[in-house]
Amino acid sequence: MTPNVIMLVVLIAVTALAAFAACAILSNRLGSSEQKKKFRKQTELETEIKKAKQDLLHTIQKQQGLTLKYVKSDDRYIHTLCEGELLAKLGLSSETVVGKDLRDFLPQNYAEEKLQSYRKAWEGEQVNYEQRLNGVDYLVSLRPVFENGQVVEVIGSGVDITPQKEHEKRLKESFALGRTLIDSLPLGILVVDQEKKIIAINEACGKMFQLDQPIQSYMGKNVADYHHVYFEHVEKEGKRVGEMIRNHQPVVDEVSFKGGRILRRSYRPFYMEEELKGHLWTFEDITERKRMELANRKAKEEAEKANQAKSEFLSNMSHELRTPLNGILGFYQLLELDETLNDKQRGFVAEIGKGGRHLLELINEILDLSRIEAGKLKISPKRVNINELMKECIDFTRPSADQKGIHISYQENAATDQYVVADPVRLRQIILNLVDNAIKYNRDNGEILIEYTSQEGFLSVHIKDTGIGIPKEKQDEVFEPFYRIDHSSVEGAGIGLSVVKRLLALMGGRMGVESEMGKGSDFWFSLPLANHHEGSKEDTIVQDAKNPQKRERTKVLYIEDNLANMQLVHEIFETFEGVSLNSALTGAEGIKAAREQLPDVILCDLHLPDVSGFEVLKALKANPKTADIPILAVSANAMEENIHRALEAGFLEYITKPLDIASFIQQISKHLV
Ligand code: ADP
Repeated sequence: MTPNVIMLVVLIAVTALAAFAACAILSNRLGSSEQKKKFRKQTELETEIKKAKQDLLHTIQKQQGLTLKYVKSDDRYIHTLCEGELLAKLGLSSETVVGKDLRDFLPQNYAEEKLQSYRKAWEGEQVNYEQRLNGVDYLVSLRPVFENGQVVEVIGSGVDITPQKEHEKRLKESFALGRTLIDSLPLGILVVDQEKKIIAINEACGKMFQLDQPIQSYMGKNVADYHHVYFEHVEKEGKRVGEMIRNHQPVVDEVSFKGGRILRRSYRPFYMEEELKGHLWTFEDITERKRMELANRKAKEEAEKANQAKSEFLSNMSHELRTPLNGILGFYQLLELDETLNDKQRGFVAEIGKGGRHLLELINEILDLSRIEAGKLKISPKRVNINELMKECIDFTRPSADQKGIHISYQENAATDQYVVADPVRLRQIILNLVDNAIKYNRDNGEILIEYTSQEGFLSVHIKDTGIGIPKEKQDEVFEPFYRIDHSSVEGAGIGLSVVKRLLALMGGRMGVESEMGKGSDFWFSLPLANHHEGSKEDTIVQDAKNPQKRERTKVLYIEDNLANMQLVHEIFETFEGVSLNSALTGAEGIKAAREQLPDVILCDLHLPDVSGFEVLKALKANPKTADIPILAVSANAMEENIHRALEAGFLEYITKPLDIASFIQQISKHLV
């Protein structure tokens, strides 16, 4: 019983008590000898009734809601009682209401609305109505009181429902927001409950399944009745997928629809407080993306074919050019040894040698550039001791520096004993090229200073000269192929720097220049630093010499459900020599592939459709066959605590998405060598 109903019962009881008391008083008056006694009793009763009435009034006044009574007089409904705390909240008082009709104290339209309910109640109906006044929502129940089949009075009770209304409003708002959100998504979304009844469906889903009715009309309907909508369109339905869904395992797959459309479909069970509440499906129309991928693949294949033809042409050309050059340079060397030549002839021979070597360099550079541009140049990243390599390059270039009286300063110290991740052959080519330029474009008796700085996992090498310098506006252009600032006296074809820059990019490095006209230039490049980790191979320069045969291919397994990321990593590994990449779309597939393929390195996305990357790690570490494989986490979550948690759990590296190619190469290379 609500407080208002209790109030009504009490009200009726008191009225009955009053009637009974009135009868008692009347009969008492008729008495004779016991009159005095009876009169006393009568007075006592009257006092009790008065007290009960006052108590009741007091209770009515103190209640949180309100209680009212009205009677009809002509066409007016006159209030005979109106009390309760709610009254004050509505900006009214008992005095403003009692003895009056609604129209006497309420605004016209507001009163008219309420009058309709008052009329109905007077006609004998039980009426409930909600209203809002003075910022307060309240609910009033009107109950007619009958006497001999006639309504003689209506009793009403009101309760404040403002908090419920607020809550309802907030619920409605969040529902509307949720609705707008899911409708604005390009993904088709369908949620069904345990009985397969639709509990949410968005516009995109309706479009994908070509539903002809407004989507709201499908709410509450059983998807089983609409199987035709789905299955009629799906040409292939993998058995395995069906089974996984029955087992409530998350699934991501691609399904072909009639009309050549392809949908990417994902399923996951939907839990609330650990109880299975339903099933969530998302659908993405990837027809266009697939078409583009196909077109790109075709274009790539065609470009590859064209590049192949270009590379073949260039390699044939270079062979054709090298053969006569071989003769020229060979005979030049023989002539150089001939002591019978006079000075003039020696001069001619030296010119032949210079021209021949220049031509050979040019052919090599053109070949490199075309191989890089055709994506044919493969690099083999290794740990390289930069100090050793630098000393070797300086020794090699010292004779030409000496010819110009140029001094090369290179201070060896502990800081210079650094390891970088790079292809040693290509790194040697880069350093030689830059030191050679620093000599070529330097003044006589100038200086060359070679220094290192390291920052955030990268080592920067600075090759500074005291030469002619490069004007600001041309500092970008010098990295373009065949670009030369007019130095008629200095030999060159303008290819070296463009090759150097591209080689560095392939190795995850960067390069740039700072220069001042007449003062000199600082050509710098940076490469990922390699860790001095335990068990690392010996210095690779030594290692290569000892072990010239090709190493076995390094197998990498990438567990990732995002196809775009997968493709990017594929592209990056394309440039790595001796690395083969396999992929798995889910954690379960990844664990299986790892056990079968026993890769050398595993890259694992932390957010997989079925299990988390942590569970994959746990499963692999628990199996002795896969326990020692280095596993690297890949995640879009770059929060410090998540990185920390992953490294604690046993991931060797934490690679953040979107991938920064240079750091990615740095992080992965350490585990490939
Ligand atoms: P090349 O030296 O064969 O012309 P590069 O690609 O190595 O080709 O260099 C391109 C151009 O950049 C050079 O022609 C020269 O104008 C300028 N350049 C390169 N290095 C330096 C340097 N250290 N100082 C001044 N100019 C330079």
